[in-house]
Amino acid sequence: MELEKEAAVLESIRLVSREYKPEDTVVTVGNVKIGGGHRAYIAGPCSVEDEGQILEIAELISDCAHILRGGAFKPRTSPYSFQGLGEEGLRLLVKAGSSFGLPVVTEVLSEAEVELAAAHVDMLQIGARNMQNYALLKKVGAQSKPVLLKRGFAATMEELLLSAEYILAAGNSQVVLCERGIRTFSGSLTRFTLDLSAVPILKQLTHLPVIVDPSHGTGRWNLVEPLAKAALAVGADGVMVEVHSHPQEALSDGPQSLKPDKFRALAAELNALAQFLDGRSGGI
Ligand code: PEP
Ligand code: MN
Repeated sequence: MELEKEAAVLESIRLVSREYKPEDTVVTVGNVKIGGGHRAYIAGPCSVEDEGQILEIAELISDCAHILRGGAFKPRTSPYSFQGLGEEGLRLLVKAGSSFGLPVVTEVLSEAEVELAAAHVDMLQIGARNMQNYALLKKVGAQSKPVLLKRGFAATMEELLLSAEYILAAGNSQVVLCERGIRTFSGSLTRFTLDLSAVPILKQLTHLPVIVDPSHGTGRWNLVEPLAKAALAVGADGVMVEVHSHPQEALSDGPQSLKPDKFRALAAELNALAQFLDGRSGGI
């Protein structure tokens, strides 16, 4: 196949390539599996803001999300914007997850945070802005918690795969890739352009699971539902969606956050779509 030839050309992609390992990698986050036919919905607020906020959201989505997300260390464009609660945010996220039976994922911004976060959460997120922070990639590769690696918004698919290669080369093969939108010329109507073509291409080139984040990818809550559905339709192994009970008051990314009831409705539709897709492919 044409794409396989391209993979061969990308000779530095070794451990992540389908050629090296033809079968899908299944990544295990707590008791949740992603990849190899297992789809996961990751949901929760952009930032952990206070105990009441994260507990409320976790409770409301606990029966329709698989993994709870929430930022404690936030990569904000402006140094004057809310930067996250730090260690306290980690503690609250873990408390919310364990209270409602959800494994948790959070972003690490620097090497200094990896050990602390890995000791408490079930999955470490590398954000778009850090996709090519090679020291950080090596550090998360040298520990054993699974890693959610987001595509940089000016990064090619090849660069995303090579960043994943850093993590695998350092010893950790539990990596999930995430398409979260790239910079094009979409103007002010969307925050980024969600590159859904990346999903089937990546899945041909690599055995790693690929999920999609339609919240950052669009920046608008009312585009999350159609693009989450589109993500599953093109073969994504799951979605990551920002959810907030009071988006108007959110300290970050309110405009792209779904209220819990809207997320619940979306999850039900995604489940129905997944059933249809699995039926078509003869089941998984
Ligand atoms: C996030 O998931 O909250 C986030 C900051 O995402 P990204 O790194 O894709 O911008
Ligand atoms: Mn966000």
